[in-house]
Amino acid sequence: MRRINRNVVTRVLNINLMKWMVEVDINKTKNFYSKDIEFCDCLYCENYMEASKHVDSSVLEIFVALGIAPSKPSHLSEFGEMEK
Ligand SMILES: [Zn+2]
Repeated sequence: MRRINRNVVTRVLNINLMKWMVEVDINKTKNFYSKDIEFCDCLYCENYMEASKHVDSSVLEIFVALGIAPSKPSHLSEFGEMEK
């Protein structure tokens, strides 16, 4: 989906994630990650940083496609148990 806001074309994707519809503005996401983000030192983010060194390139391609810098975790938390 494309939207025009104040002469700026934004690229927005709607992604089905389990029972939720997630709207992703890729340009805003890229802009967020282009800034000098303060790194979190919680256990979740530290675990992610270590695990991200070992993920398959196909996973990294998804992050990049969504505008996410995989090397910059921000506000990660446990997802919890899966609902059945
Ligand atoms: Zn954290």
